[in-house]
Amino acid sequence: MGCLNMSDIAISPEKLRSLAVAICRAAGSADEEARVVAENLVDANLTGHDSHGVGMLPIYIDAVRRGVLKLGMKPKVVSETVATLVVDGQHGYGQTIMKAATELLCAKAKEAGAAVLALRGTHHIGRIGAWAEQVAEHGLASFFVVDVAGVDAKVAPHGGREGRLGTNPICLGIPVKGGKPIIADMATSRIAVGKVRVAFNKGVMVDPGSLIDAAGNPTTDPGVMFAPGGPTGALLTMAAHKGYALSALAELFSGALGGGGTIASLPPETQRITNNAIAVAIDPSALGTADYIAGEAARLETWLKSSPGDVLLPGEPERRSRDARARSIPIDAGNWAQLADLARSLGLDPDSYLRG
Ligand code: NAD
Repeated sequence: MGCLNMSDIAISPEKLRSLAVAICRAAGSADEEARVVAENLVDANLTGHDSHGVGMLPIYIDAVRRGVLKLGMKPKVVSETVATLVVDGQHGYGQTIMKAATELLCAKAKEAGAAVLALRGTHHIGRIGAWAEQVAEHGLASFFVVDVAGVDAKVAPHGGREGRLGTNPICLGIPVKGGKPIIADMATSRIAVGKVRVAFNKGVMVDPGSLIDAAGNPTTDPGVMFAPGGPTGALLTMAAHKGYALSALAELFSGALGGGGTIASLPPETQRITNNAIAVAIDPSALGTADYIAGEAARLETWLKSSPGDVLLPGEPERRSRDARARSIPIDAGNWAQLADLARSLGLDPDSYLRG
């Protein structure tokens, strides 16, 4: 999480949520939409993923102002069977569309034992782990594959020098009766674009092995992704060819199998972040393992942590961050300046949220 610099700020989750709600409302959202978006974003900050937190608001509100992010949209069920559901997000807020679509998916999975959601054409759905958590609250296991289209392709295919893919996240979650779900949630790029943005705003370098410049040479300068007119460099995939292979299949699952279109058919001209997804929810009771998982998960955790060193379970960094940030969320100066400018442009007083 790092130390606060002099010009960074710290704000309570409640105040940050109020500011985010006020920004969304001032940009035209009804109360409920503003609340759901704000809760999701602040929750991402709480989990330590500032890349998917309130720092997205300037991008979201810019999309609202350009008319490419539509307000007040509901998930439109295009087709369904007992165990499948095709939902068109109609380019509404991903937070509200995905929350509602995930509830529909869970209801079907409980009915049929397992169910598949194909989500098409939704604006950014944020931190995918949030949806795995929502599924786990129903006692269900899940996996998600997502593509990111309609904006500059920021990830180079393995062996290539220019971006052709999005950061295409993959997420798996398993419910643990009487405990917290175990969730692995990641971009298939070496790091998420938002983390490059956060580094750019902070004026710091990113980890080696994350970026290449226009000539294909390794660089740690986040500026190559934020050059005026579009990126001049590209992100690398995680785990070299393996991350690339997963990312390409995430395109085909979410964009082709799911029907929302791959990045090859959704060009960046609109600069409208478009997430398509395939989500699968599985009811452990249909497999006879609803009561078995918890014991086995506990045994696995003990086994993994018996390895000498410092071993965490997937999802543990996010849980630790929630504890550490429960009362106060650090926001870096660059991120706060952008948020404050946005608030002022909507007639709000951002500094009033820092008082008290
Ligand atoms: P990350 O690298 O911080 O974490 C990836 C996973 O590794 C997490 O499940 C985390 O719990 C686990 N992990 C981290 N350190 C660990 C350790 N020491 N031991 C065990 N497990 C550990 O995540 P990321 O790849 O930077 O992705 C950040 C977020 O960006 C995710 O929530 C993802 O869903 C989101 N994302 C969203 C989109 C979108 O278009 N909506 C696109 C890309 C990424």
